[in-house]
Amino acid sequence: MKFQTKNVHFQEKITANEISKTKPIYQTSAFSFQDLEDMEDFFQGNKDYLYTRLGNPNTDDLGKGVADLEGAKMGVASSSGISAILAGVLAVAKSGDHIVATEDLYGGTYQLFAHELADFNIDVSFVDFQNEKEVERAIKENTVLLYTESITNPLLRVENLESLVALAKRHQLKTMVDNTFATPYLIRPHESGVDLVVHSATKYIGGHSDLSAGVLTGSFELMEKAKAKVVHLGSNLGPFDGWLGTRGLKTLSLRMERQSRNAEALATTLQQMPQVKKVFYPKNASDKGNGAIVTIDLADRADVYEFFRQLDWVKVVPTLAGVETSVTYPVGTSHRPIPEETRKRLGVTPAMVRISVGIEDEQDIIDVFVKALKSCEVHE
Ligand SMILES: *Cc1c(COP(=O)(O)O)cnc(C)c1O
Repeated sequence: MKFQTKNVHFQEKITANEISKTKPIYQTSAFSFQDLEDMEDFFQGNKDYLYTRLGNPNTDDLGKGVADLEGAKMGVASSSGISAILAGVLAVAKSGDHIVATEDLYGGTYQLFAHELADFNIDVSFVDFQNEKEVERAIKENTVLLYTESITNPLLRVENLESLVALAKRHQLKTMVDNTFATPYLIRPHESGVDLVVHSATKYIGGHSDLSAGVLTGSFELMEKAKAKVVHLGSNLGPFDGWLGTRGLKTLSLRMERQSRNAEALATTLQQMPQVKKVFYPKNASDKGNGAIVTIDLADRADVYEFFRQLDWVKVVPTLAGVETSVTYPVGTSHRPIPEETRKRLGVTPAMVRISVGIEDEQDIIDVFVKALKSCEVHE
């Protein structure tokens, strides 16, 4: 099946005694049994469900849907992107191990790695992944994992996954990639040999800004380990959020197609505006487009605060990937936890605005940004 078909047909066909066209929501904390033999069947592996923390049809569906699209054997859904990242990391790393991660990480991932993993005695080195020699130099005796993002935030650098996997293989390390910004519609890291792929399903997988969820995909072996972490740490996803996630997922290819096209057009227009110093937008990220995030660095003649005030119908929200166009301020939100010195080195500036382009009419989107840019000029 082609991507667009798989995208809407990942669920099992409804069984004989179900009459609903859509999968029912199993809004239950546990499952009931006819008798003790019936319950024993679960422990013998003949039944799938016992207790929702251990597994639920709606959350399993979300994991399966994303795994199908990523080309993975199995997927595990969890309560958030961050809990999926933690489950993936703990499936590979234990106390005493070391991880090498890119320094331009999503802020929440940085906090997890820099502060929480240290308490588990897992040490993380943050290095510039554009410089392969630096990555290789950071690898130590106890290194087990290389961690990066397929399209980084907010500078939208496209990672070279082939060379990263080659490097990891030379040192017998596992690789893990956050594919949130790209989605499997644009980039499928497993096809390059990446071991673990993680999503904040809060973003494009859900697509409607109405849930928090994470999904991790990979081999059966790694997913069994990660699933055990989700179960034992209690970071399972609720059934309704799993159901919302699958409902959103079904339109992923439509949304990404439109949103990437709109973003490409907006990026092209913004490049010509004198109020914009620099536009960050990937080139050749995939043959289906370059994603739906556009980051701009405003010129000195533009007032950032005034720009945000002039944005008319565009929402100012500290997230991305909804069907509505929205903007955020990385230095004030997602990158607040990143040390200022690192931000400076990365080029994340106080004049930077990250635009998450929605599914609206292309010209309406362009018009609202052009008007805001023209209205935020500083007059001496
Ligand atoms: C939002 C985000 C996360 C964290 O996901 P949550 O669902 O908020 O826990 C991780 N990585 C990236 C790239 C994100 O954008």
